Amino acid sequence: MRITVALGGNALLKAGQEGTVGEQLVNLRLACRQLVELAREHDLVITHGNGPQVGKILLQNEMAADQTPAMPLDVCGAMSQGQIGYLLQQELHRAMVAAGSPHEVVTLITRVLVDPDDPSFQNPTKPIGSFYSAEVAAHYMKEKNETWIEDSGRGWRKVVPSPQPQRLLEEKVIKQLVQSSCLVIASGGGGIPVVEEPGGGYQGIEAVIDKDLAAALLADAVESQLLLILTDVPGAYLHYGTPNQQLLAEVTIEEIASYAAAGHFAAGSMGPKVEAAIRFVSRGKGRCAIITALDSATRALQGKAGTRVVAVL
Ligand code: ADP
Ligand code: MG
Repeated sequence: MRITVALGGNALLKAGQEGTVGEQLVNLRLACRQLVELAREHDLVITHGNGPQVGKILLQNEMAADQTPAMPLDVCGAMSQGQIGYLLQQELHRAMVAAGSPHEVVTLITRVLVDPDDPSFQNPTKPIGSFYSAEVAAHYMKEKNETWIEDSGRGWRKVVPSPQPQRLLEEKVIKQLVQSSCLVIASGGGGIPVVEEPGGGYQGIEAVIDKDLAAALLADAVESQLLLILTDVPGAYLHYGTPNQQLLAEVTIEEIASYAAAGHFAAGSMGPKVEAAIRFVSRGKGRCAIITALDSATRALQGKAGTRVVAVL
């Protein structure tokens, strides 16, 4: 079976960690153990989040701006794809060799097309980078026409749009690599958002694409049978965080869509995972999506853990 695996932030960096390369490698080692198990029997395409990493790259760029020019968000996104991809390649390769099943592992810098008329461009909501004073925020809002918000009493942060992903520009080459038995890491951090230019090229833009929604597109593009979303909770719950919370085991897209409409899955965390599962499963026959914890990946494939989203029960 061909599986697209979406690794959540905690596979890379856990809450409270500083973010050293050593910490990230240790975290990735645990994730790679799961991936190697899956790769024994399945073709894998891997994608991942980049929130903490791209935040740190932005900070490094901002702090050093008087010494060397700061890079825009799209370039920082590409840097994070390269950085995380490299670390994953190192650990996956090591784990594969240890398990006696070496594969080629390759990371692809991936651009994702978005619509310049996407409504999110009129309503930027995704905070990025560090916190600043009201004066700094006012300066950037006036001089650079940026949108900044006061973020929960912690200071001012720049916000960028989070447009819908439309197409992975590198989808053909990703598919070719998968077909030649490479383990491909692609569309990291939701991909680098680009818009079409009049002459036929593409222009990078300041936006952040949700990594789970991009994962659904990636899974579609490589014709996966399964979209496996690995995060830090056992699955999607009803009444999450209350004494009545209830883990969903197997649900149809219609059922989970009605739970989503009733507000069970928070926007920006479980919401987009559920939406990604619905989009992926409803776009092709016989497909399934699983949302589960990183360390339950193999058990979830056996039907013993996680939330499984299917077209029909
Ligand atoms: P990732 O880095 O894997 O994308 P997120 O933090 O974005 O992780 O999403 C996972 C989080 O979603 C969980 O840690 C949990 O706090 C939150 N969440 C919100 N609603 C639900 C729900 N209904 N069921 C399970 N988790 C939920
Ligand atoms: Mg998330």
